Amino acid sequence: MWLPKIRELKEAIGSLFSAPYTTKFPADMSAVDLPDGFRGKPKYDTDACIGCGTCAQVCPPGAIDIIDDKNKMTRTLRVDYNRCMNCGQCEEKCITETGITMTKDFVLVLTDRSDPSAFESVEKELVVCESCGAIIGCKDHLAWIKDRLGAKAYAHPNLLLWTQEQFAEPGPAEVKSRIRREDQMKQVCAKCRYQIVTADEF
Ligand code: SF4
Ligand code: SF4
Repeated sequence: MWLPKIRELKEAIGSLFSAPYTTKFPADMSAVDLPDGFRGKPKYDTDACIGCGTCAQVCPPGAIDIIDDKNKMTRTLRVDYNRCMNCGQCEEKCITETGITMTKDFVLVLTDRSDPSAFESVEKELVVCESCGAIIGCKDHLAWIKDRLGAKAYAHPNLLLWTQEQFAEPGPAEVKSRIRREDQMKQVCAKCRYQIVTADEF
């Protein structure tokens, strides 16, 4: 009965003169050795992200919200770390490959789920249809498509206008009652463009 107590006492005294077994986590992360490929919090790269929204579509738990604001002409992609399960699908399916990446930062110790550090976001400029006001996409996304298409981009008026830098000024588009042939050389959505090319009367 006394033998275990003596052993514990010996260990307790010995521990007073030895280095601690525990680390000062999260204050001191130097002892944390993470392997390559470790998936921590996903993080956007403002320059590499083009605002296409693919990451939000492939996110299994729906942790990425797409928030479009036509008054400010912005699209915000926001990752909610409370819902993120660090699967890495957003990084793997990102069409630019570097728009969002999995960092090695995994510490998420919060007492309030609405704490700003529980979210990661990127904001991009929107392009809306000059005819009906529908959202076409982000400026950076159109530029990315234009660059990939090369000379073929000149076949599409929206992309041609991008090369001429004739995007609509930020602000809500004027909604027209009737669409005309001359509207062809405007930034219009796919639905309005279809109406323009199939209209009998001009
Ligand atoms: S890591 Fe997975 S769960 Fe987290 S935002 Fe990306 S796709 Fe969604
Ligand atoms: S470019 Fe990548 S990170 Fe940006 S919205 Fe598209 S898929 Fe998401």
